[in-house]
Amino acid sequence: MNTSSTPIRRVVIAGGGTAGWMMAALMSKLMGKQLDIKLVESEEIGTVGVGEATIPALHTYHNLLGINEAEFMAATNATFKLGIAFEGWKDIGQDYFHSFGTTGTDHWSAGFQHFWLKGHAEGLAKTYTDYNTETVAAYANRFAHLPRNGLNYAYHLDAGRYARFLRAMSEQHGVQRIEGKIAAVLMDGPQGRDGDITALQMQDGSRIDGDLFIDCTGFRSLLMGEALGVGYEDWSHWLPCDRAVAVQTASVREAWPYTRSICHPFGWQWRIPLQHRVGNGLVYSSKELADADAPDVLKKNVEGQLLIQPRVIKFTPGQRHKVWHRNCIAVGLASGFIEPLESTSIHLIQRSAIRLMQLFPTRGINPADVAEFNQQCERELAHIRDFVILHYHVTERRDSALWNHVRTMEVPASLKHRIELFRESGRVFHQSDELFALNSWIQVMMGQGLTPQSYHPVADLMGKAELGNFLGDIHLKVARTVAALPSHQAYVEQLCAPY
Ligand code: FAD
Repeated sequence: MNTSSTPIRRVVIAGGGTAGWMMAALMSKLMGKQLDIKLVESEEIGTVGVGEATIPALHTYHNLLGINEAEFMAATNATFKLGIAFEGWKDIGQDYFHSFGTTGTDHWSAGFQHFWLKGHAEGLAKTYTDYNTETVAAYANRFAHLPRNGLNYAYHLDAGRYARFLRAMSEQHGVQRIEGKIAAVLMDGPQGRDGDITALQMQDGSRIDGDLFIDCTGFRSLLMGEALGVGYEDWSHWLPCDRAVAVQTASVREAWPYTRSICHPFGWQWRIPLQHRVGNGLVYSSKELADADAPDVLKKNVEGQLLIQPRVIKFTPGQRHKVWHRNCIAVGLASGFIEPLESTSIHLIQRSAIRLMQLFPTRGINPADVAEFNQQCERELAHIRDFVILHYHVTERRDSALWNHVRTMEVPASLKHRIELFRESGRVFHQSDELFALNSWIQVMMGQGLTPQSYHPVADLMGKAELGNFLGDIHLKVARTVAALPSHQAYVEQLCAPY
């Protein structure tokens, strides 16, 4: 490993999809004056072309870049996203919503779910999601930025336009873009192998030298996987969907402010509304649905005119054994992929970008920094993996071999513990570096049909009348807030109009 004290000045980013340009934009904004940053991409190879739903943590990244929200939304045809509607995931015909907001109000002594569980047992409570402003607003197709404690939201965006938006920012901050195909990755080990990466050999004969290489070449993982030979941990025994087929359609109705995730016997389907079109896709197990049939199945399940022909994408859910090895860091799909169910890949790119800024090896690569980077990425991914597996495992569906497998399979011990704790007592705990907060776990566990056997005894301290008033006040506040909101479509149009 390059542990020399030679300062790192020349950074080469291989790949210009969402990962490459997100890395370039942040690095150039924060360290553009100290670094010489080059990004190589090939228009002929193109990008994966999906990845349109985000989560609220993207605000942190945008704040670091100083992005103006309305300008960004106009440039990427973005809409607001208040959460995900999971349709048929608990069982056929049974839906729930995972919102980005908080459900109810926590009492000083225990989480809201305990009071709701008691209210539910006594016939006082409405549906759990009726106490969540984001969910009620989403289903009513309403949205606005609210002053204090406003709606918690993310975006749906056009991934191609987002990369171009970030490219313009990166180039303003000095990133040099090089168009062309990488033909070989040159290393300084014996016979030019097994060492640090020294340069990318381009197909036109030129070479791009660097001190640090960021592998953003997507599923190909040209640098980390192919050249450096870092292996891949396969999670398909827990996450059996290994294919996606995607297509874009013209909008036929107002854009709704949430992602739809519709369950099928072979996997699930997404619908992501942008300002000008809808992104659609099936995520499926190749054991349940043949690749040759998938495009037709998708076409039968979309509305509106097709804007492109459906394209099948193959993937293996899992992670690279290391994401930082020698003088190379893998980011985006080159580093691993948990299927898109909770829209976490763009977030993981953002986390890697911020983490690299925090641990940037200015004075040379230090093994302690590398180990820290790898450990943080691994912990983060394991947490997200558990959360995604939860959706598959806790289900009552029995309509295919896929659902029978995931419902009955052994899950990671960390997830098993969380499920058992919640089932017994309605309790769930959250570590400080975990992405999904208690509210997310509770919504999904309850939504998938995991009802706790008991609630915290402190809920019994509230008498029936007091509990009724407590729940009633929250519900009234939610209903009044949502009634005062404008339509999502109108709000987006007004916000983006000046651009
Ligand atoms: P890519 O977009 O594949 O980019 C790779 C880049 O490398 C391209 O620029 C390509 O030209 C370049 N390249 C490759 N080989 C060479 C070569 N030899 N020479 C030169 N250049 C080369 N994430 C979310 O957060 N939300 C979602 O809703 C979501 N949905 C998804 C749905 C599906 C079906 C899939 C598969 C992924 C989804 N993702 C989602 C993940 C998201 O799409 C990716 O994380 C994101 O697009 C980043 O991709 P990337 O930049 O790593 O790779």
